[in-house]
Amino acid sequence: MPDPRPVPPGGAVGILGGGQLGRMLAAAASELGLKTHVFCPDHDAPAFDVATARTVAGYDDEKALAAFARSVDVVTFEFENVPARAGEVLAANVPVYPNPQALAVAQDRLAEKTLIQELGIPVPPFAAVNEARDIYSGLGRAGRPAVLKTRRLGYDGKGQAAIRTGDDPSHAWRLIGEQPAILESFVDFRCELSVLVARDRQGATLTYDVAQNRHERHVLAETTVPAAIDAATDEAARQIGVRIAEALDYVGVLAVELFLVDRPEGPVLLVNEIAPRVHNSFHWTQDAALTSQFEQHVRAVCGWPLGDPCRHSDVVMTNLLGESAARWQVLAGEPRTRLHLYGKREARPGRKMGHVNRLAGPSASAGKG
Ligand code: AMP
Repeated sequence: MPDPRPVPPGGAVGILGGGQLGRMLAAAASELGLKTHVFCPDHDAPAFDVATARTVAGYDDEKALAAFARSVDVVTFEFENVPARAGEVLAANVPVYPNPQALAVAQDRLAEKTLIQELGIPVPPFAAVNEARDIYSGLGRAGRPAVLKTRRLGYDGKGQAAIRTGDDPSHAWRLIGEQPAILESFVDFRCELSVLVARDRQGATLTYDVAQNRHERHVLAETTVPAAIDAATDEAARQIGVRIAEALDYVGVLAVELFLVDRPEGPVLLVNEIAPRVHNSFHWTQDAALTSQFEQHVRAVCGWPLGDPCRHSDVVMTNLLGESAARWQVLAGEPRTRLHLYGKREARPGRKMGHVNRLAGPSASAGKG
């Protein structure tokens, strides 16, 4: 579909995927006077609570996808693991941002790492693994410890197996389900960072302040902004984000996860992975930046001017996983804290139930009770 005019207030944004990211995108769209239509196979998806319209159907239901596409002015995604065919069906009926090719790259760790390496941006040493014996040759290059990661459908450490000294590589191969993978050197990083770049339909870009992330059991636990990095590292991270967004002709917000590694020649940034969507490590923008990542993504895909990403407060974002959201009454009463809950009924262990953004600064309020 050719590039259309901007979607005006009153227009409708289609969102593929109905998780918490879709929910927060829909809420942000409504703040701009836009309607939303969420497409998700799951009957009680969190985003349905706040969307104008819903379709409950599978991502392979081409009739439902086409009808969904025709009901909206633009389609975007809240998660990247949508079948490529779904992107094609949608794009035949309505403008789709980011473009489905960007999604295809982000879905496949091998394509992703190859593209980034071709751009001259450092990544951890890696090798393609198609069968068990490729692991042995890959280990020759990557060394031990190494991480075997499925090429597709891996997130939050799922589809990954470590291979340490003495480990049997065929055990790791069985653990990941004997499917196409990449073998990656284990990186001894100083810290994990992420950068978020927004790119509009005309190719203008801007970046948010770099976030510093702490993971627990492969899942993001806490994000701190500003990150404890020097100005050169900050600038290098932003440049990496912009170069990847430009190479993908990307429209929307794009997150890049990075490892900061100390080398004798100085600090080096390695790209771990990219996420072609809003990202957990930028939830702080809801309360500590002038334009949240959710609003920014909606603006970009709708052809609006990008909003000011300026950060006005130092902030720590903490994910509420599993039962930790049961403390909602305590959290809701904390000073300088904003509580966000996703409306999920079942608090399974490790499930993302909500998050809090705690702003730095004096706890005494200027407001009167
Ligand atoms: P991923 O699903 O690739 O984002 O991995 C989830 C988390 O696992 C990362 O945020 C890191 O904490 C850790 N991890 C992944 N790959 C590596 C690696 N090559 N070296 C060290 N830690 C890693």
